[in-house]
Amino acid sequence: LTRMLEDEQFLPGETEDGHSVKLMVNTGLSLEAVGSLKAKVDGVGLYRTEVPFMMHQRFPSEQEQLRLYRDQLEGFAPHPVVMRTLDIGGDKDLPYFPIEEDNPFLGWRGIRVTLDHPEVLMVQLRAMLRAAEGLNNLRILLPMVSCVEEVLSVLKLMDRVTEELTHDGVKIERPLVGVMIEVPAVLYQLDALAQLVDFFSVGSNDLTQYLLAVDRNNARVSSLYDACHPSVLRALDHVARESRRLDIPVSVCGELAGDPAGALMLMGMGYTALSMNAPNLPRVRAAIRRVSLESAKTLVQEALAQPTPALVHRQLNQRMSQWG
Ligand code: PEP
Ligand code: MG
Repeated sequence: LTRMLEDEQFLPGETEDGHSVKLMVNTGLSLEAVGSLKAKVDGVGLYRTEVPFMMHQRFPSEQEQLRLYRDQLEGFAPHPVVMRTLDIGGDKDLPYFPIEEDNPFLGWRGIRVTLDHPEVLMVQLRAMLRAAEGLNNLRILLPMVSCVEEVLSVLKLMDRVTEELTHDGVKIERPLVGVMIEVPAVLYQLDALAQLVDFFSVGSNDLTQYLLAVDRNNARVSSLYDACHPSVLRALDHVARESRRLDIPVSVCGELAGDPAGALMLMGMGYTALSMNAPNLPRVRAAIRRVSLESAKTLVQEALAQPTPALVHRQLNQRMSQWG
């Protein structure tokens, strides 16, 4: 089996009947062998910038960030690299920027932190834009967005940074900008958001946590945390449909995309780009290459008809073992 997966590692994510799905990788650690990954993926669907920030003793300087981002952008060019602005708070603390709160996942997190510290966000945006000079494969993703105003504020800051850099003689191509769909509130504002940004990326990990009100790291309630909960599946289906109607590209970068059955369901819902941790790529690729789009759609219809997570899993397992 391992041998078979190895043979396929450079083949595209394409179903038996020729429907293609972009397979992208989630990155953050510099030790990931960029060189060997590049030929196996269609780009980086999520570069978690907080990971290198966590490995520093203080906020990395613009120059230090520039170097890190340039490595990613250059390493995967001409494929797109989706760089997410700093997503700290919740479970991710920087040793040099401690945040103490009773409800960290409902508190100062992601875009909320960086909008309150525009100096941090602006340095990061400057470093990203400078790193992309001449490459044109940068995309910027905003985490933890819960309202339209947050996007407007970031876009304003981005205009300011672009103006400054242009003034300094840096050639700026306006990058595509996207928002993470991970706070349930934005499920009902996709139309307003689609007017402001170029793409959506669904964070199924946080979407599950917030939709089910289950702390994703709390062992006591971990049996309730399930991306296959019927409500989560319906939310994911809703985002796929709405994005199609609004004609805006959408991908999924949470763990569900890295699970073979999850990936098939997402494909069946209409997602055409999935981003996952590198070790999950071979099995997801193999699953996609062994089904038709029609059968993935059937899988979704069957899953959406189940009333409980357990029944969803039972039905998925049945199908998956049937398909080998
Ligand atoms: C998510 O929430 O699904 C996601 C991809 O982001 P993170 O896991 O970094 O919060
Ligand atoms: Mg998230």
